[in-house]
Amino acid sequence: SPEFQGKRVTVAGLGVSGIPAARVLHGLGAVVTVVNDGDDERSRAQAGELQALGVTVRLGDGDTLPGGTELIVTAPGWKPDKPLFAAAAEAGVPVWGDVELAWRLRELDGRKAAPWLAVTGTNGKTTTVQMLASILKAAGLRTAAVGNIGVSLLDAVLGEETYDVLAVELSSYQLHWAPSPRAHSAVVLNLAPDHLDWHGSMEAYAADKGRVYEGNRVACVYNVADKATEDLVREADVEEGCRAVGFTLGTPGPSQLGVVDGILVDRAFVENRQKNAQELAEVSDVHPSAPHNIANALAAAALARAFGVPAGAVRDGLRAFTPDAHRIAHVADVDGVAYVDDSKATNTHAAEASLAAYESIVWIAGGLAKGATFDELVAKSAQRLRGVVLIGADRALIREALTRHAPEVPVVDLARTDTGAMLAAVQEAARLAGPGDTVLLAPACASMDMFANYNKRGDAFAEAVRELGTASA
Ligand code: ADP
Repeated sequence: SPEFQGKRVTVAGLGVSGIPAARVLHGLGAVVTVVNDGDDERSRAQAGELQALGVTVRLGDGDTLPGGTELIVTAPGWKPDKPLFAAAAEAGVPVWGDVELAWRLRELDGRKAAPWLAVTGTNGKTTTVQMLASILKAAGLRTAAVGNIGVSLLDAVLGEETYDVLAVELSSYQLHWAPSPRAHSAVVLNLAPDHLDWHGSMEAYAADKGRVYEGNRVACVYNVADKATEDLVREADVEEGCRAVGFTLGTPGPSQLGVVDGILVDRAFVENRQKNAQELAEVSDVHPSAPHNIANALAAAALARAFGVPAGAVRDGLRAFTPDAHRIAHVADVDGVAYVDDSKATNTHAAEASLAAYESIVWIAGGLAKGATFDELVAKSAQRLRGVVLIGADRALIREALTRHAPEVPVVDLARTDTGAMLAAVQEAARLAGPGDTVLLAPACASMDMFANYNKRGDAFAEAVRELGTASA
């Protein structure tokens, strides 16, 4: 392609986005150098494969800008304050993330370009894009859930498959590095402090999330209960005719979707002019039907309706949807106690949503706090807590919040960060729990102090519950 032929591009970071980006750019005729901080066995193996193609790879030095670089394509997770980007700014070199690259390539060569329905927010992104894809499929559209969920946007944009529309999950990191994408319609599900160590401030984090609305053509969908999301819509520069559409767990106003008597109702996209509301589905069509998940369903429905999907397909798509593992997954009942794995609750806002879904809880929490504070979460949830078991590196922060806001709740501080701690945590939780209680793993923290990722943490929990069940049987 003329745009990339002979262009000297530095790809920052090997890994899920860097490797395909390097391959694609090399294939388009760019002169590609990959720089990577790490120099371990895995990166050497990955480097070897790229070098075989003719790509230059520099391991162990992700901060020196290769001479002559005309463009950097970065892994989205790379922090904006890294010296590499200071050097790029100094040299006037633009920096694109993986999403920016995908968008630019989508525009190239008159490729048949499917519009994007984009989803971001602090929590609920993956669930919402999957619900959305399920609804779009139920409407007979060719689609896929892509982006920050394991299926790369680059693959979707460049692959053989043709799509009518893409359900795109975007993280705040990806949005930070993506100035150009313009979605058909987009939603910011909610905004709560997360990743502040990366973005630098809540304002910067919100601004990066708000990017998702820029240039929207049909609808900017916001959360009526979260005013910050509506503010972002107001500040966005959108195409003429693009509408602000709210979703609410209450009765919807005009241009909103909401819930009336257990029915999901749309007052924004009503086909029949005789009626002022369109019934979409029943609350019981949403799995699990916890309040935060109804909100996700309404957001997905709003995007689908903005794309013209009929009400019946919303209902069928929601019914067909099954949640991913480790998201409020019921593992087992042992001695009348329910064990629930919400390992994906990696921040306080997510944990607050799952704690709100149960009445009498023994809560397993702790891990890496990522700069969060726990006072609000603990204060809001204190009444539901029958006991708490703490694990992980930053558990003292949660313990102190419990002392302040829930002094009467029994707390077991395991003071452990080894992998075997999960079995001990489940055993302690079983001791604190009584029939009718729920033992809930909703750590409110990242997992990397103890586990490779939240999946492994949830697996360890499920394994521990199975052992408990065997012992009790
Ligand atoms: P993300 O992709 O944004 O991390 P997920 O759909 O994977 O979101 O859900 C992550 C966790 O966030 C869930 O396990 C649940 O605890 C919580 N959660 C999901 N949806 C919401 C929501 N709308 N509001 C608050 N918390 C939510």
